[in-house]
Amino acid sequence: MPELPEVETIKRGLGKNIVGKKIADFDCDWQKAINYSLKEYKSKVRGLQIKDVKRRAKMLILNLSKNWNILVHLKMTGQLVYGSKTKCVVGGHPIEEGYDCLPNRFTHATFTFFDQSHLYFNDIRKFGWLRLFTDAELAEELAKLNLGPEPLSSEFTLAYLKGRLSKRPNNRIKQFLMDSSNVVGVGNIYSDEVCFYAKVKPIRLVKTLKESEIKLIYKGIKKILADSIKLQGTTFSDYRNAQGEAGAFSKKLKVYGRYGQKCKICGTIIKKIKIGGRTSSFCPQCQK
Ligand SMILES: [Zn+2]
Repeated sequence: MPELPEVETIKRGLGKNIVGKKIADFDCDWQKAINYSLKEYKSKVRGLQIKDVKRRAKMLILNLSKNWNILVHLKMTGQLVYGSKTKCVVGGHPIEEGYDCLPNRFTHATFTFFDQSHLYFNDIRKFGWLRLFTDAELAEELAKLNLGPEPLSSEFTLAYLKGRLSKRPNNRIKQFLMDSSNVVGVGNIYSDEVCFYAKVKPIRLVKTLKESEIKLIYKGIKKILADSIKLQGTTFSDYRNAQGEAGAFSKKLKVYGRYGQKCKICGTIIKKIKIGGRTSSFCPQCQK
């Protein structure tokens, strides 16, 4: 599944290319991906202009004219590809190959713009969706999800983190970090990396964390996500090949998915443990 940094990269890449475009037509062959009948969806989006592309947690929001929005969740294998006669943007990155091969058998929705460029929604496993909402409906939908702050926003402060931690003393720190009501975007990969950065075992109970460890956890969340976004912005091929894994950042991972291999810092063999049904990797030497 694309994590926050990949979705952020897609947002930036698409934003540069589709903002300002007007939708001439829409097509979709997978009813479950949309929240109206195709006929209704089509008639609502035709003629609307894309005003902005935003992100909330791992979802994309296309702000349209006349107070409409399309909330997009890529889920496991969804992909948004922008293509025109002169360029193609996949996973947020322009590529040279063009888009002669699109639409393909995984293309389930297509927006055609008035300038004859397209935005394709491809999805191998068909769990992703593109739901159309008014501004008020969108606000309601997002409120239902009870999402915590964006980790890179000014809302996510050390004081906020401490406050949330004090309400969850018996959580394992990994579970706490992965709970999107505390903070969004710290999934399985980044929670392991944050724990390594802070030198705490992912299984530690929140109430046992020292002040200095909490500070490192806070710093780690900001730094690791920012670094990953930066790398996603400079490398592309890995993202596409990895089908939504950590992309270029995967080479930088210290513990995630590395159990059985040597710790890059101390050489101890990385161990794994199950926490809340998820496999977590950690260094038994570096992490306390
Ligand atoms: Zn180590």
